[in-house]
Amino acid sequence: MLSPRLVLSVFLAALAAAPLLLSPFYVTLLNYIGLYAMVALGLVLLTGVGGLTSFGQAAFVGLGAYTTAALSTATALPGWIAWAGASPWLTLLAGLLLTAAVAVVLGSLTLKLSGHFLPLGTIAWGISLYFLFGTMESLGGHTGLSGIPPISIFGWVLDQGHEIYYLIWLFLLAAVFTTQNLLDSREGRAIRALKGGMVMAEAMGVNTSRARMIIFVIAALHACASGWLYAHMQRFVNPTPFGLHIGIEYLFMAVVGGAGQVWGALVGAGVITVLKQWLQDVLPRVFGASGNFEVIVFGLMMVLVLQRARDGLWPLVARLVPVRAARKAIDAAAPALPRRSLPPPGTLILEARNVTRRFGGLVANQDMSLEVRAGEILALIGPNGAGKSTMFNQISGVDTPTSGEVLFLGQAVAGRDARAIARMGMSRSFQHVKLLPTMSVLENVAIGAHLRGSKGVLSAAWRRERAEEARLLAEAARQLERVGLAAHLHDEAGSLALGQQRILEIARALCSDPCLLLLDEPAAGLRFKEKRALADLLRKLRAEGMAILLVEHDMDFVMGLVDRVVVMEFGHKIAEGLPDEVQRNPAVLEAYLGGVE
Ligand code: ADP
Ligand code: MG
Repeated sequence: MLSPRLVLSVFLAALAAAPLLLSPFYVTLLNYIGLYAMVALGLVLLTGVGGLTSFGQAAFVGLGAYTTAALSTATALPGWIAWAGASPWLTLLAGLLLTAAVAVVLGSLTLKLSGHFLPLGTIAWGISLYFLFGTMESLGGHTGLSGIPPISIFGWVLDQGHEIYYLIWLFLLAAVFTTQNLLDSREGRAIRALKGGMVMAEAMGVNTSRARMIIFVIAALHACASGWLYAHMQRFVNPTPFGLHIGIEYLFMAVVGGAGQVWGALVGAGVITVLKQWLQDVLPRVFGASGNFEVIVFGLMMVLVLQRARDGLWPLVARLVPVRAARKAIDAAAPALPRRSLPPPGTLILEARNVTRRFGGLVANQDMSLEVRAGEILALIGPNGAGKSTMFNQISGVDTPTSGEVLFLGQAVAGRDARAIARMGMSRSFQHVKLLPTMSVLENVAIGAHLRGSKGVLSAAWRRERAEEARLLAEAARQLERVGLAAHLHDEAGSLALGQQRILEIARALCSDPCLLLLDEPAAGLRFKEKRALADLLRKLRAEGMAILLVEHDMDFVMGLVDRVVVMEFGHKIAEGLPDEVQRNPAVLEAYLGGVE
């Protein structure tokens, strides 16, 4: 096994030496690979990690290229933008600002769209921006703009391919490292939860629409920077490289490289660029005629790659160079996060008043009332289909009662979103486990602590939030230890047994420092010893003053543990009281004997 640092050093040395050893043709090829990889990297974040497909990235590249082209070739700029004419570095700033603004507008229009509407939306803006470049007189129409000055750094003019090479790769490496840092942070976990974990993330207080907007803008900015470099490398722009066709190619690069991996962007851009170049050279010789054979062969090869390597090529490359996996260090000495003060035992925490929920003609909850106090465990039991989960949803704000109301800490739950409720101190586990299977157990649990951190994207990208991150991870590790999963901190969450995954969800809920814990069938799938451990944990939490409501099937688990029981059948409450009383209640016996048990 090689150390990651060694592999990286060798790679960087090779990059630095490349222009000295290679002919100008290959240096140019590497320049293009760097430029493409930067755009593909944005797509890795947006599509691979965040699950949002965009065909329109080429338009953002165009925005960056045309902004700098227009500003740096204009003879007389209007006063308000005259500052940007002084240097390409200022036109980069102008381009980034413009791109961010356009991305925010386009994002707020299209990111809310679900399913295939988002990709269609990106196609629409990709086409419109492309035609805008070709149509605007001031941008030179289809002939474009020429005479773009080269970039200079402290008087060093980068007007040769092997000179701008260094700038391109510096930009790309900075983008790769900041993206990697971002993904490995509190905001990064929120972003990684977008694909397949939105409901869970919102319940943990993550603002998922904001996270979507963030990755959308970041991806656009990467594309813009690539466009800026391109314009100053070519010293000339026209609309051709910014069309939809190229937008699709960028997406190919991200997907072929390995859509969830930052280095995959580089692999994808490299493979596709070299392959196209090679096909263009070889095929006309093979077929002995001119024609766009390379496009056809290229298309077929793409289909093959996507068929054979679902996760892209990066995992295959990574296997060739076995690098020791870096483990997250947990700093046990990190100061504990501040805790909310729990209300004194006996305080009324949760109150449901005459909650009725109808689904069309079906009454899933009829006139249900219950209350939970601090330092108390209440069980909601009943046969399958009794309406327990429906009730649970009304309480957690996932669903709204047809009539009646739910009060949490004296405030109505209805009308508040999951995030606001999480912030107030209600945390939950899910009947059907919701976790991110490829993420580590530790990181899954750290999502629960989202609201206890505050550092944003920029601090994460530049590693300015390590102290807070250490506290969040230490808290996650502490909760995992508490629930008995300390041995699995670094395992993939998906590799745990189902029972352990349920326990993970409890640790995640505890990580948010709640005053009310809602558990939907926490003992399902647990073995006898695990059940006993879980019961012990819940007792300990109760003793600390936590209010706990659990929905459960398992009568034995409930009876030895809880303070009170509410029994439901056909949407109604048929009994309520101490476990012993309820167990002897004829109506309950009837419901259970006639029901599932
Ligand atoms: P439990 O959790 O006690 O097994 P549920 O609350 O899941 O029961 O379901 C109670 C009843 O409400 C069932 O008959 C179920 O089919 C129905 N139900 C639950 N959710 C919906 C929904 N979204 N639309 C229509 N019917 C529903
Ligand atoms: Mg249920």
